[in-house]
Order: sequence, then C-alpha cells, then structure tokens
Amino acid sequence: MPKVNIYQKDIETLSRQKIEEIQLERLRHLVDYCKKNVPFYAKRLENISSEKIKTVKDIEYIPYTTKEDIRDNYPFGLFGKPLKDIVRLHASSGTTGKPTVVGYTKNDLDMWSDCVARLIMAAGVTEDDIIQIAFSYGLFTGALGLHYGLEKIGATVVPTSSGNTEKQIMLMQDFKTTGLVSTPSYAQHIAEIIAEKGVLNKLNLTTGLFGSEGCSEEFRDRIEAGLNLFATDNYGMSELIGPGVSGDCVYRKGMHINEDHFLAEIIDPKTLEVLPQGETGELVVTTLTKEGIPMLRYRTKDITQISYDICDCGRTFARMAKIKGRSDDMLKIRGVNVFPSQIESVLIGFEQISPNYQLVLTRTHSTDELEVKVELADGSLLENYTALEDLRVKIKKSLKNVLEISSKVSLVEYRSIERTAGKAQRIVDLRNGEK
Ligand SMILES: [Zn+2]
Repeated sequence: MPKVNIYQKDIETLSRQKIEEIQLERLRHLVDYCKKNVPFYAKRLENISSEKIKTVKDIEYIPYTTKEDIRDNYPFGLFGKPLKDIVRLHASSGTTGKPTVVGYTKNDLDMWSDCVARLIMAAGVTEDDIIQIAFSYGLFTGALGLHYGLEKIGATVVPTSSGNTEKQIMLMQDFKTTGLVSTPSYAQHIAEIIAEKGVLNKLNLTTGLFGSEGCSEEFRDRIEAGLNLFATDNYGMSELIGPGVSGDCVYRKGMHINEDHFLAEIIDPKTLEVLPQGETGELVVTTLTKEGIPMLRYRTKDITQISYDICDCGRTFARMAKIKGRSDDMLKIRGVNVFPSQIESVLIGFEQISPNYQLVLTRTHSTDELEVKVELADGSLLENYTALEDLRVKIKKSLKNVLEISSKVSLVEYRSIERTAGKAQRIVDLRNGEK
C-alpha cells in the first residue's frame, strides 16, 4: 500500500461539529447568494431566507434541484454570475436534446483544482508521479478536472486524451509513466492490449485514478492485475463541479467527500424524504462555495450510502460508498431494492460467462420471481453437465450474497441473448405493471 499523504491536514481532520459549523455558515451565505443572483432560485426560495436556516438540518426547507431544471434554463439560466465573470464552460452530453451547461468563475476553477488535489493525494499520488490522462479532453469535465488538480500538486501531466491505445502504451514505456487516469473500461482495454504485446514488465505504473463510470471491486481487481497498479475510484459530475466531489484514500473504505465544499444528503428517491444516517438512498448534493452555477440540493440520481466514522487514514470527512446504481434503474423485488449493476458486478467475477445477461421478472401468487439469464462465454462447457450445474450453483450463491434475495439462474448458449445496436435490454418486467 502506498504511503499515506495528508494534504491540508488541518481541514481534512476537523471535528464533525466544526465541519457542520463551516457548512452552516456557507449554506446561509449560499441561500442569500442564490436569491440575489439567480432569478430561478429567487422564485423557488420566496419563503426561505438565510435566517430560517439555523442548523445544517434546516436545509430540508430548500426544494430540490434537478437535471431538468438545468435543461429548462438552457444554456445559462441558472448561472450566478454574468458571462464576463465566467472563464470556462463545460457541458455534459445529453443523450436526448440539449446538453446541460455549466460555467466556472476563476474562484471555481481554483476550488475545483484544490478539491481534486486533495483526493489524488489521498489516493497516494505525489509530485514525483508522471500521470497519463486518457480521458477525452473537451466539454466533458473529467480530463481538465484531473489535469489541473494533478498540476497543482506538482505531478507531471501527460495529456494523451483517450484512444490510440498503441501510442498510449508506447508513451507509458518511453516516459516511464507511473499513473493512469481513465475510465475503468478503457483501463481494462489498455490492459488487454498490454497482455497481447507482452509488455507489462516494461511498464512502471503504480497508480490508477479511475472515474466517470461505475466500477465494481471485482472489475477493479481485474484491472489492477492487468496493469500491475493500485487503483482508486473518484466521484463527481459536471452539474456539481466535475471530478473532485469525493474520492478514495489508500484505505479504500469509501470515497471521502470534500465536505467543506459539498454538503451531501441521502434521500428516499420515491418519497423524497431525507433518510437517517447510514441508510442507502439517492445522493443529493449542495455546492457550498460554487459561484458560476450554484446547486441547491441537486438530485444526482446516484444511489449510495454515507458513513461518518473517522477513517483509518485519519480524515474525518464523510465517506460515500461506491455507486450502487441509478435511482431510475432501481427495481423493487419482494420489497428489496435491486440494481442491475449489483448483478453485473457478480457476473463479471466468472470467466466462463459473457457480459451479456437479462433479468426476467414475473409474479406468481403475488410473489415476485427473478430469473437471471446468463450467457456462456463459449461452447466449451456445453456437454459437461456437472461443470454447468456447478457453475450455475456458484452464480446463484454469489447473487444471493449480494442481493439478499434468491433468484433463478439460467445458463444459455453464447449469443442467444438478443443484441441491440443501442442500449441493451437488460430488464424484462412481466409483472403487469403492479410494482
Ligand atoms: Zn480515508
């Protein structure tokens, strides 16, 4: 395990009481700022003023903000500053219609790079590191977010952007690159090409900083073995700032949230009530210090859980668990919340099966039944019934451990689950609409 770095130790080890004092002061200031500078918020907060916010918990008086609110006010309607004070624009890709646009003031860029610097130092990165950024540069916040944070701590940045994998690997060898910033899936792709070329022993990689898409622990283990490095996960989204909201320290027991800049809550995505500490639900984040496009109680749609215990690294900042899934994808089966991503993380641990699966939900005698159809990776096991049954039982057991409900597992032949050009149809819900 790399040695622990404590960056800005005085801030990251504050007592819970002190953290809440800072959050309260900033929250009250933010409410006034939003009312004064953003007409959208002035209307929404008509009956709320900073005087009404007496404790951090009083944030519950403030309505939620959603991605639709940003879209409806496209492109700059939620900005808290005129464009002359905005020094950078980013946008997240909209799968349908207009993207969501975010703007940064000079102060925002400074805060952003500070937040990223903290997280990457917590992940073990130092000024001696040479880091290749294989995120695509552009309107997407990932690449530039990591870029400025890494430069801030004095690491050497190699902005290769994504793609051209052969060249990425050549530069890794020639520059003696020690760290890789990328999505987990691109890291896995690089690992596969490295294995084909047989050059793993010529590389100097020690650290992987992964983000922008979910990554199960099983998948992370596979990437770590393939690239021979120590991988950490970080979290963020452009509506909040970009990467820099939270990230793993070297103990990897949840991603530390930069709580002096981001106030996090967990809500029930159905009832919208705030859940008690430790419960799993949708993450809602308020940006306490952002000027360009301040966000009050932004619904991330990401499902996680927050722990407020002090971490083994000494940091007191709360830690959020890996994202379990999106609240939009959540399935309720026999009263239990199930996410397709949980099932995926189990399936990826088995080499004998392909990444294609389908969940079929039915209801008999008012009981929900879940069938997980899994494709075999090839035909090698087809005639071997003992091995097939053995594999099926193992998958069933692992699923039960993770989902806490039992399911029926069916193994089907390779390529028998229909492929679609767009998003795969993973869920077939035949429960007649009553959920
Ligand atoms: Zn920690």
